[in-house]
Amino acid sequence: MVKNINIKTRSRNEFVDITAELQALIDEAGIESGMCCIYVPHTTAGVTINEGADPSVVKDIQVALSKLVPHSANYLHTEGNSDAHIKSTLAGSSQTVIIDGGKLLLGTWQSVFFCEFDGPRHRRATVKIVSD
Ligand code: ZN
Repeated sequence: MVKNINIKTRSRNEFVDITAELQALIDEAGIESGMCCIYVPHTTAGVTINEGADPSVVKDIQVALSKLVPHSANYLHTEGNSDAHIKSTLAGSSQTVIIDGGKLLLGTWQSVFFCEFDGPRHRRATVKIVSD
């Protein structure tokens, strides 16, 4: 089964916690044990897993990424969003999480974040849930 999570981002750089939406899809599918693959079909966005308890962690990640990859530099791509393409590659386009006991097998402090690098936009994360 393939499902989409629709995401409306509000700023150029934004991390959206989609953990609850993913868990709702697993609940809806009634799967107790399996795998959940989250795929982001965009070239200027990504998906990552990191701390969801303290929002300053996400802020620190965003600040560090923006220092590493500035908005303006001598990029060849003329669309003005090369930084977003590079950040997308750094974050990656997919994550896979084990499902155990009907729950995403995340660590206590972990959340799954959709990573916007060229918002605001209408986006989606595609989710494939496989039962074993
Ligand atoms: Zn571009």
